[in-house]
Amino acid sequence: MTAELHYPFPEPPAPGTVTTVAPGVLWARFPLPFRLNHVNVFLIEDGDGWAVVDAGISDDPTREAWEALMAGPMKGERLTRLIITHSHPDHIGAAGWLCQRFGMSLVTSQTTWLTCLYESIAPDAFNHEAYAQDYRRHGLGDYTDTLLQLGHRYLRMVDRLPLTFRRVVAGDTLRIGKRDFRVLTGDGHAAEQVMLHCAADRLFLAADQVLAKITPNVSVWATDPEGDPLGLYLRSLAHLAREVPDDVLVLPGHQLPFLGLHQRLTELAHHHDDRFARILAACAQGPKTVFDLLPALFRMPLGPHETGFAFSEARAHVNRMVLEGRLVWTDAGDGIPRVMPA
Ligand SMILES: [Zn+2]
Repeated sequence: MTAELHYPFPEPPAPGTVTTVAPGVLWARFPLPFRLNHVNVFLIEDGDGWAVVDAGISDDPTREAWEALMAGPMKGERLTRLIITHSHPDHIGAAGWLCQRFGMSLVTSQTTWLTCLYESIAPDAFNHEAYAQDYRRHGLGDYTDTLLQLGHRYLRMVDRLPLTFRRVVAGDTLRIGKRDFRVLTGDGHAAEQVMLHCAADRLFLAADQVLAKITPNVSVWATDPEGDPLGLYLRSLAHLAREVPDDVLVLPGHQLPFLGLHQRLTELAHHHDDRFARILAACAQGPKTVFDLLPALFRMPLGPHETGFAFSEARAHVNRMVLEGRLVWTDAGDGIPRVMPA
């Protein structure tokens, strides 16, 4: 068993309050209407105001929480710009409203911007025939309709974005107040997710790429069925281990800030190795559809909402193993692809 991560701030900030995690760096929490019931937001001193990292989801409780924060601990303070880490609604959802309400400009990666724009222009794009075909093809059968009816409701909890943004790219230096942050990006959980590293003050804003206790979701999209998001994710973990020293305070998108970055990077890679091993063991019993593999990977009972994520995550492992030559697709003649050991 490896050592525990260290949590210098074991109590999250209560609603409407902030916790100082470093001089001029504040941590606030916003509610989410999901089982994962919160998202972290960070405020970084930026000259005569504060830069904000992530916005929360677009709903009334989030907007009320922002108003309470700005009428409470941040009363009289100016917000300068909004840095969005990635395109998921729990982070970018309220960005449009927040920028307008507090006169902020938006800073993010091009992929984050374009993904969010695409989803707002075509909200049905993720509920279309590609998903239906893909789910059926990989063994979900009649369950497909249940999943599609659930849809991707949360994708709609996003405001219209501001008309312009400032693009940041991996390798950029972003000056925030007196600090220089190096911009890193990573794929797998979300495309071109932005992370910020301040070497001088040993701070690492990791977004959702590295969380203390959750394994970030890594899903294949039906629109890119042969995609390899898990390969990209594992590559990103290795990149972070090379590029970011171990002694940083990790400020993540969910759960608690922690010390122990490199240990957590190793744990996350091991988690996926364990999943690969379970898939190989299951396939040793005979060819399996992606859907067949879910019980081997997820030991708790899955509701329809979790099944959609679990399926896409299982698919990510299978695609990676096929690319590595550890599994091959077979077709028993029924048109349903199954994998078996190579
Ligand atoms: Zn998130």
